[in-house]
Amino acid sequence: MYQDGLGHEPVTVVGSIRSRVAVYTGLSSRAASADTVNDYGAAVIAREAELLRAAAARLATLDFYPRPVRTGRVRIVHAPWFFALPGLRRFHGYELGLLILVRAPLDEVTEDLVTHELCHVWQLQHRPFFWLSYLWQGYRDNEFEREARRAVELSRPR
Ligand SMILES: [Zn+2]
Repeated sequence: MYQDGLGHEPVTVVGSIRSRVAVYTGLSSRAASADTVNDYGAAVIAREAELLRAAAARLATLDFYPRPVRTGRVRIVHAPWFFALPGLRRFHGYELGLLILVRAPLDEVTEDLVTHELCHVWQLQHRPFFWLSYLWQGYRDNEFEREARRAVELSRPR
């Protein structure tokens, strides 16, 4: 999980491109021409791979756990609706198993955010029940939360 003090709502660039495409073709975005959907999908997947690669490389510089994080099945999903749910409005990212949910479109998602969330995936791969600790440690001072923040600080390129 990641929150910061900014609290600004990023513009949904991807969403607006999709609506324009739908208007232009006169079809729903689901039924837009295959080329358009492929271009859109390919761009997002390239950005997703770039973010995952960069974050994994940053975690690889740390010795928190014996084995490197495995990213083969990890996906980054732009899910603004998730962050509209009660209790989740203050977060910008949320790790759910192998899914990293992000509030902003992938073009606007930072390497820092993905490094933080991927650290939670790394924790999960070594401590499968780490998330239970949130029940008694809460969020802000949780040991795994502090570790994920430390991972971002220690691995930030200088
Ligand atoms: Zn977190």
